[in-house]
Amino acid sequence: MVRAMANVIEEAKSGRASCRTCKKAIAKGELRLGVETQTQFSDTPSMQWHHLPCAAGKLPAELKEALDTYEGEVPNRAELDAAMEEAIKKGNAKPGGFPYTDRAPTGRAKCMECDEPIEKGAFRVAVEREVDTGGFMRRTPGYLHPQCVAANLENVGGSLDELLEGVRKNSRITQGELDGVISDIEGGGA
Ligand SMILES: [Zn+2]
Ligand SMILES: [Zn+2]
Repeated sequence: MVRAMANVIEEAKSGRASCRTCKKAIAKGELRLGVETQTQFSDTPSMQWHHLPCAAGKLPAELKEALDTYEGEVPNRAELDAAMEEAIKKGNAKPGGFPYTDRAPTGRAKCMECDEPIEKGAFRVAVEREVDTGGFMRRTPGYLHPQCVAANLENVGGSLDELLEGVRKNSRITQGELDGVISDIEGGGA
């Protein structure tokens, strides 16, 4: 399990690191995105580096967050923005953790609250919950209709505000889609 912790943009201090996306070297002085990750093999987080154009396609949300706080000049910024938007639209960006919202890839999963199937292509909210599987607890994803979330906070494991904060941070959909899902979630609590 790899957990993203912090993202940073900086000029490569040497030419020794290679890009995690394309596996090629990152030239000294070139801007790179560092994603702080913690793996199961080590207690100390380590940095994984990516060329910015590579990160735009593979880690658009991480790159966007880092760009927002980077104060230096970023060459080809418009191209990066376009590539990030494209990657998010294509849905090839993996969610950053639970909770998140995405479109249901099949119509098989049932909503934990109303027990109705979540239609294929409809937005759903995914949360991680603890399930007792015959004597030991296992963490497993569960799905909810956006408008069913407020009634099912026991599986969400926190307040509605915390859920919304997580959904904003972790989801890989466009801002307009996200605003729509959030208003559905909030509408369910009314
Ligand atoms: Zn690369
Ligand atoms: Zn439901």
